[in-house]
Amino acid sequence: MKNVILTGDRPTGNLHIGHYVGSISNRLKLQEKGGYDKFYIMIADTQALTDNADKVDKVKNNIIQVAIDYLSAGIDPEKVNIFIQSQVPELSEITMYFMNLVSVARLNRNPTIKEEIKQRGFSNSMPVGFMCYPISQAADILAFDANIIPVGEDQEPMLEQAREIARSFNSTYGEKVLVEPKSVLPETKNQARLVGLDGKLKMSKSAGNCIYLKDEPEVIKQKVMSAYTDPNHIKVSDPGQVKGNVVFEYLEAFATEESFKKYLPEYKNLDELKAHYKKGGLGDVKIKMFLNNVLQELLAPIRERRKELEKNVDKIYNMLFENGKKARQHAAKTLERMKNAMGIDYTKFLK
Ligand code: ATP
Ligand code: MG
Repeated sequence: MKNVILTGDRPTGNLHIGHYVGSISNRLKLQEKGGYDKFYIMIADTQALTDNADKVDKVKNNIIQVAIDYLSAGIDPEKVNIFIQSQVPELSEITMYFMNLVSVARLNRNPTIKEEIKQRGFSNSMPVGFMCYPISQAADILAFDANIIPVGEDQEPMLEQAREIARSFNSTYGEKVLVEPKSVLPETKNQARLVGLDGKLKMSKSAGNCIYLKDEPEVIKQKVMSAYTDPNHIKVSDPGQVKGNVVFEYLEAFATEESFKKYLPEYKNLDELKAHYKKGGLGDVKIKMFLNNVLQELLAPIRERRKELEKNVDKIYNMLFENGKKARQHAAKTLERMKNAMGIDYTKFLK
C-alpha cells in the first residue's frame, strides 16, 4: 500500500501553540522521516465557511496567514503539497455521494461537533453545511487515498466517521475502492488537546484563548502572565493545584529537561516543580516566568522566519495555486474510480 499523509487546518485565524504540539510537530517528524509517497496539507477554506458564511473576508485573508505559519514552523514546500480546499471542486462532488451513506442520527452522535455547537451558540440556527462538515472532511481524506493523518484529539471522531464512510462505500459499491485512514496523535494527552489560556475550552482560534505562533515577545509574556492557574493559590505559601492549572499544562507540553537546566536549574524536572507547588512555597510569577522563557525560545525562530516570508507573499500564492492543480488531478482520479464502482460513469452511452 502507498503511504499518503494528509492533514489540514481551517483558515479562521493564525496558527497557535495548540496546533504546534497537536499536529505540526508530528507533521515535521513525518516530513523528516520521509518514506511517504505523497504528503498533502490542505487549507480548509470550504470547511471554514460552514460556520463563517458571512465572514468570507476573514477566511480569505487567513489562507495566506496559515500558509505562512506552516512555512515558518518548518514545513518544507519541496516535500509537502500545501493547497487550498476550494481549488479542488471534486471534493464537493465526493461529499454529495458520501452524504447518502451517513444518517442524521450518526452525525448527531459526533462529540466534537456537539462541543463546537455549544461553543458557537448554535441551536436551531446551525447551518446544514456545518452539521455535515465531518462528511466533507471524510471526502478530503478519502479523495487523496490518505492513510496517515496527523491531528489533535478533537479530530478522532472525524477520522472514525471517515473510516465508516470508506467501509460503507466499499461494501455498497465495491471492495477496496477507498482506503481507511488512521490518525497519528501526539505522545501525550495534553499535547493532543492543549487547553486554552482560560483553562476551560481547548485552545482554538474561534474561542480566542490562544498564544499564536506569530505573537510578539511582549504579547506572549502578557498572555502567559494572564493564564489561568489555581484560584485558591493566593499567597506564595499556599499549597497549589497543578491539575487544570494552565501553566503546568503548558509546561507539560513544552518544557524539557534542557529547559530546566537553562532557565530553572534549581529544579531537575517538572515532577520536582509540581511537588513544590503542591506543597506550597512556590509562587505563580516564578512558574509563569519559566513558561515564558520556554515559549519565547520556541517561538522566536518561527517569528523571524515569518518576517522573511511576509516579504514574498506572491511566491506563496503561486505555490498554492500550482499545488492545487496537482491535488485536483489526484482527487479527480479517485472520483472517477468511485463513479465507476457506483456504475454512474455514463460515458459508455456516448456513440
Ligand atoms: P477553529 O476554532 O476554527 O475550529 P482550531 O483552533 O480548532 O480552529 P483547526 O483548524 O480546527 O483549529 O484544527 C487544525 C488541527 O489542529 C487539527 O488537527 C486539530 O486537531 C489540531 N488542534 C486544534 N486545536 C488544538 C489544540 N488545542 N490542541 C491540540 N491540537 C489542536
Ligand atoms: Mg477546530
